[in-house]
Amino acid sequence: MLRIGDAEVVAVEESVQPSFVPKMLFPDSDPETLARHMHWMAPLHYDIPEGKFRTSVRSFLVKTGRHTVLIDTCGGNHKNRPYFPRFHQREHPWLARLAAAGVTPEQVDFVMCTHLHADHVGWHTMLENGRWLPTFPNARYVMHRAELDRWNPALPGHRISPHNEFTWDDSILPVIESGQALAVDDGYELDNALTLVLAPGHTFSHCAIHLHSRGRRAIFSGDVMHVPLQVYHPQWGTSLDDDPGLGVRSRLHLLESCAESRTLLLPTHFVPENGCFIVRGGSGFSIQWNDDTD
Ligand SMILES: [Zn+2]
Repeated sequence: MLRIGDAEVVAVEESVQPSFVPKMLFPDSDPETLARHMHWMAPLHYDIPEGKFRTSVRSFLVKTGRHTVLIDTCGGNHKNRPYFPRFHQREHPWLARLAAAGVTPEQVDFVMCTHLHADHVGWHTMLENGRWLPTFPNARYVMHRAELDRWNPALPGHRISPHNEFTWDDSILPVIESGQALAVDDGYELDNALTLVLAPGHTFSHCAIHLHSRGRRAIFSGDVMHVPLQVYHPQWGTSLDDDPGLGVRSRLHLLESCAESRTLLLPTHFVPENGCFIVRGGSGFSIQWNDDTD
């Protein structure tokens, strides 16, 4: 468990596994650069036999002192994701891990989303008697208004993504229909502790979620970065980004602000669940893994 001022943060893992072939994730990457970093990446962050980055998919549970908040909800169970084997028709013991963190679905007050890709909204719903129903019956689901509009097939601004087919119908629409969705703008603040801050590029309205309490700070950065190597090469956009150039600017801004204010960085997909600090090193940035836990 991490303590950020008065807030408690617990990572709730769904899966950790080899996932991305470097050249497919980062079209600008090259084998020489990868080889130079392999001494610290393998075996935790990179699986050499598979030739793939290892990544986590996780949620973060935040107890602010007033409310229990879940940040992003992984891939979920029984979802139809034929384009992503990692998320297709899975049966993860994720709810048992949430219980091990001391929280039942009924106790979740808010769900907050960095963005609405399939691996961040899966546990928004569960399959019950053939219907997708909200997993957290008492929660408000806080989602950025422009991000909701972008994925809503009924709106003219809707943009199709082959990586996100079916997600609207099985994971977003049911929480809108139940009256639990809360469309907000960036700057939305919860409990004077959690703030939604635009960090676009991966999706057009992707947000980071800033946590601040008693002078301590952390940022749930979602998919501003997918793997730690991007700290050293922030100019590498991913093939999954809506706007890779915008993503580079968001990444540089995030790294600079984390380095300046010693803010704990908590990305969704980095394998170490306790996050890291960013330090300026040489011509760029480097990582200091966080080992300060309760
Ligand atoms: Zn993701």
